[in-house]
Amino acid sequence: MSIDLPILKAPPLSVEANVNLTTRTLQLRLAGVINEQVHFRTLFDYVFGLTDDVRQLIFDVKGIQDINSSGLRSWMLFLKKVQEAAFQLTFAQVSEPFLERANIYPDMLGPVGTPVEKFEAPYRCPRCDIRSLHLLDTKAFESGTRATPPPFRCESCHTDLLFDELESEYFRFLRRLPKTSS
Ligand SMILES: [Zn+2]
Repeated sequence: MSIDLPILKAPPLSVEANVNLTTRTLQLRLAGVINEQVHFRTLFDYVFGLTDDVRQLIFDVKGIQDINSSGLRSWMLFLKKVQEAAFQLTFAQVSEPFLERANIYPDMLGPVGTPVEKFEAPYRCPRCDIRSLHLLDTKAFESGTRATPPPFRCESCHTDLLFDELESEYFRFLRRLPKTSS
């Protein structure tokens, strides 16, 4: 059984929750901006109220467009509290702005070993000069060798796209992922 309920619809951040009582998971889909206007107290109270039914929190932060320094502090505090409440964490999808921050502040993605399933990565067409985001699967990087972005072609001119960030920085978070996938 799964229950869908929007729990927080206050700009600049919206949160949707989906509880699955069979898998004992709570998926939280966050979209918008995390800044000084955002307080996670309501969300934490909601999550904490589910401790008997839910063991794992699955975050989808693909809709996060920006996170500033006060937002970062609130997010870290929220993660710390849910970990103290013994929830296991997984990130289903991570946006480019969230990941760029997380490569500087790695604990944004939970403790070392927290799984990340998919993440956005920026590419650019050298001919059209158009930047595009592609959703990558971390499973594609499991070989343990050097992190190489998978190839994509431009939708309009079919030229091979170039990766639009410094690979050594953008893929830094991969080192924190679990060594063996579940
Ligand atoms: Zn092109």
